[in-house]
Amino acid sequence: MTGMPNDLSAFWMPFTDNRGYKAEPRMFERAKGMHYWTPDGRQVLDGTGGLWCVNAGHCREPITQAIAEAAGELDFAPTFQLAHPSVFRLATKLAEITPEGLDRIFFTNSGSESVDTALKIALAYQRSIGQGTRTRLIGRQRGYHGVNFGGISVGGIVGNRRQFLSLPGVDHLTHTYNAEHQAFTRGQPEWGAHLADELEALINLHGAETIAAVIVEPMAGSTGVLPPPKGYLEKLRAITSKHGILLIFDEVITGFGRVGAAFAAQAFGVTPDMITMAKGLTNGAVPMGAVACAEFIHDGIVDNAPPGIELAHGYTYSGHPLAAAAGLATLGIYADEGLFERGAALAGPWADAIHALRDLDVVQDIRTIGFVAGVEMKAKPDAIGARGKAVFHRAFDDGLLVRATADTIALSPPLIASEADIGEIADKLRKAIVTAA
Ligand code: PMP
Repeated sequence: MTGMPNDLSAFWMPFTDNRGYKAEPRMFERAKGMHYWTPDGRQVLDGTGGLWCVNAGHCREPITQAIAEAAGELDFAPTFQLAHPSVFRLATKLAEITPEGLDRIFFTNSGSESVDTALKIALAYQRSIGQGTRTRLIGRQRGYHGVNFGGISVGGIVGNRRQFLSLPGVDHLTHTYNAEHQAFTRGQPEWGAHLADELEALINLHGAETIAAVIVEPMAGSTGVLPPPKGYLEKLRAITSKHGILLIFDEVITGFGRVGAAFAAQAFGVTPDMITMAKGLTNGAVPMGAVACAEFIHDGIVDNAPPGIELAHGYTYSGHPLAAAAGLATLGIYADEGLFERGAALAGPWADAIHALRDLDVVQDIRTIGFVAGVEMKAKPDAIGARGKAVFHRAFDDGLLVRATADTIALSPPLIASEADIGEIADKLRKAIVTAA
C-alpha cells in the first residue's frame, strides 16, 4: 500500500492535536539509514532517530532479517513459567553492557511499562526485606517517565497528569535547569549539584523509613534536553545509599549510546540500583523495554518470597520472540560498528555545529551532550510552543525531521550520522529558525 490514505478520521493519534494534524497531515512511508521518505517521494533527513529510538539508522538488514526469521520460526511463546532461547540470550547480552552489578533483566514492551515495572519492583523489594513502610516515591520536576499511572505520578509534567489520577505519596525534587547559570553549556553544567540536597530535606520531612525510591532521568530528554549538573547525580547516589532508598535512572532516551557510553550511568560514572530502558534496545523496530536491576534487588525479592511466583508482575509480551530477535541483532550492530564509541567521538563536531546557531536572535539557549542537543528559542508572546511548531514544520518541509517540545528543538540523530549529515542538520535547522521567525 502506498500513497496517502483517503480517510484519516478513524486513527485517534496519541499526543497529537488531531484536528490540526489532519488538516495538514505529514507522514512517512519508507525509511533507510539516515532518511525517511514521504508518500509523495520527498526525502527527509532524520534528525531525531525517529522518536529518540533509531540509534543505528533505519531498516538495518541484520535487524529486519532477524525479525523476519523469528516471525517464521516462533511467532509467540509465553515467558510466564515457560520461555524461549532468544530471550535468555538477549538478557545475557544486555547484562554485559549495563553497569556492573545491574545484571538481572526484566522485559517489558515500552518505556512507560519499564518505569511502572521499576517502581513496582522498588516497592516489592522494600516489602520483601521487611521495609514495607517505604512506599513513598520521589521524582523530579520536568521529569518524563511515560504515561502509565506510576510514570505520570513521579513525572514532573502537570499537563500529563491533570486529566487523570495520580498516585498518592509522591514528591518531586526541583528540576536542575537554570538559564542564568547554565545557558550555552556544552556537556554537564558546573552549577546545580546543590539541588540534590533537597533530597535530604525531603528525608528529614518524611523520614527515610517512608521512602522506597527516587527516580530521575540522568539527562532529562523530553522536557528540553537538560544535562545533569556536575556532581548532582553523585550526590543523589550518596544520599540514597545512606538512607536505604533505591535510585532508579530512567534511561529510555539516554540508553544505547546517546550520551557517550552505552548508558548515561557509565557516561556520568554513577551507578543506580535500576535502569529503565526501551527505544534503542531494538532500534525502534519492534516495541520492547527492559529494567536492569541490581542483583541484590532480584535476590531480595526472590529469596524472601514464599514458594511460587515471586513477583506478581509481567506482560503477555514480556520478552516476545520478535522483539528478542530484534534486540539481539541491534546489540550486535552497536558492538560490531562501535556505535556507542562513534556517538562519543561525534560529540565534539556535533557541539560545534549546533552551538554555531547561537548567533540567531531568537535562540536563547543551546544545550549539547553526547550526540543530543536542545536548541531553545524565545517563545512568541502569549503563544508558548508556536515558534517550536513553526520550526518543526519549516524543517520538515525542507527535508529535516526535528522534534519540538514547546519552543525547544530536540535533536538526537542516529549514531551512524556522518559529519556531512551533521552539517546538513545544522544548516537546515538554521534556515527553519530564520524563516519561521
Ligand atoms: N521515560 C523516558 C525518559 C522517556 O523519554 C520516554 C519516552 N520518550 C518514556 C519513559 C516512555 O516511553 P514509551 O513512550 O516507550 O512508553
